[in-house]
Amino acid sequence: MGIVVQKYGGSSLADADAIKRVARRIVEIKKAGNDVVVAVSAMGDTTDDLYDLANGVSPLPPAREMDMLLTAGERISMALVAMAISDLGYTARSFTGSQAGVITDAVHGKAKIIDVTPGRITEALGEGHIVIVAGFQGVSADTKEITTLGRGGTDTTAVALAAALEADVCEIYTDVDGVFTADPRIVPSARKLDRVSYEEMLELAACGAKILHLRCVEYGRRYGIPIHVRSSFSRLEGTWVVDDPARDETAQGETVEQPIIAGVAHDRSEAKITVVGVPDKVGEAARIFEALADAQINLDMIVQNVSAAATSLTDISFTLPRSDGQTAMTALARIQAEVGYDKLLYDDKIGKISLIGAGMRSHPGITSKFFAAIASAGVNIEMISTSEIRISVIVDEKDVDDAVRSTHTAFDLDADEVEAVVYGGTGR
Ligand code: ADP
Ligand code: ASP
Ligand code: MG
Repeated sequence: MGIVVQKYGGSSLADADAIKRVARRIVEIKKAGNDVVVAVSAMGDTTDDLYDLANGVSPLPPAREMDMLLTAGERISMALVAMAISDLGYTARSFTGSQAGVITDAVHGKAKIIDVTPGRITEALGEGHIVIVAGFQGVSADTKEITTLGRGGTDTTAVALAAALEADVCEIYTDVDGVFTADPRIVPSARKLDRVSYEEMLELAACGAKILHLRCVEYGRRYGIPIHVRSSFSRLEGTWVVDDPARDETAQGETVEQPIIAGVAHDRSEAKITVVGVPDKVGEAARIFEALADAQINLDMIVQNVSAAATSLTDISFTLPRSDGQTAMTALARIQAEVGYDKLLYDDKIGKISLIGAGMRSHPGITSKFFAAIASAGVNIEMISTSEIRISVIVDEKDVDDAVRSTHTAFDLDADEVEAVVYGGTGR
């Protein structure tokens, strides 16, 4: 007997029947003699619907109220799952993030978990209950306000609970059979990875593969919690996110050869801002990025062009989450006179394609093959950035699918026969 921590995503809880199906799966684990703690997401596309509702009411809703609104989604599912479990003859206790002891910093909309104090959870488990926790939310220790962890944050709730409760594994139930070499919605011939390293999974998640929330992978690595990503619609073994995938425990510690490339990720959630005509002198870039940091904006790629000799002016372009676009433009407009730049350009019709693999370190020629694959799809590259195990390019949003498929094929990632199954969800 042990503690099993599971997470069910919105696509697995889309309607009443889905909730009853999930309740049966949860009860099975309890029946087998385990203590069960489950983090749940909001039903179906509830979070998106709440966003739309808020934007219909106000063009720029206050962040505090947005969090109050969005956390309602997970509260609905936690109570419904608990009800469905009680109909099966077991008792469940649902808790909000705050009740469950999920303590975060005070940043609305993208709070970080700083501690988990699961007193009420262990108490409820001790009384024999199944525990259901509303994902994606917490409470700030400083401000006492309710916070959300950013889109997809229920994955992080689950892994943080697994760490706090010292569970052996965290199971993430979703609408595909695991982590694939690309999003199966775009590449049906994508292959399921049996195992992937935290390191590669971090890059995949950071580059938009929304199968796992980035911070959930960070958490898993920090606390050594293996993450098992699998479908709630099938019984198949999913993908294990572990420290060292080459060590296959099922093969008694024998090493198995790891592929050079783990996968291709894409991201349509970013925008690009260009600060045009920045005077080419010391301190200008610092001033610009200070203003963005003060506005709590995380930047991704940054490119500064060589200044034109005649004017001594340069352009600085960077990418950032689209949802921060408005805030960034306002922050930059405020420092225009001080910095003396000419104008700002905003483009949210961009997409990012990333090729990820730990084998890149020791294999030359990956970059040229990647660029050739993008070119053969007739796609123009706007920006480039690299890390030790990743190459990313920015392209026109409409070219994303073609570029992903072309790259996937160029690196021989296509499966021979089986098509990846997408069991549910709208992909929103
Ligand atoms: P949930 O509602 O369970 O949290 P999400 O929609 O957040 O599910 O994440 C699952 C989706 O992630 C899949 O349906 C798939 O479209 C998408 N996805 C993106 N990249 C990948 C990948 N490399 N492997 C598997 N799924 C991926
Ligand atoms: N419901 C939230 C979202 O849609 C959190 C989650 O699903 O993990 O982003
Ligand atoms: Mg998700």
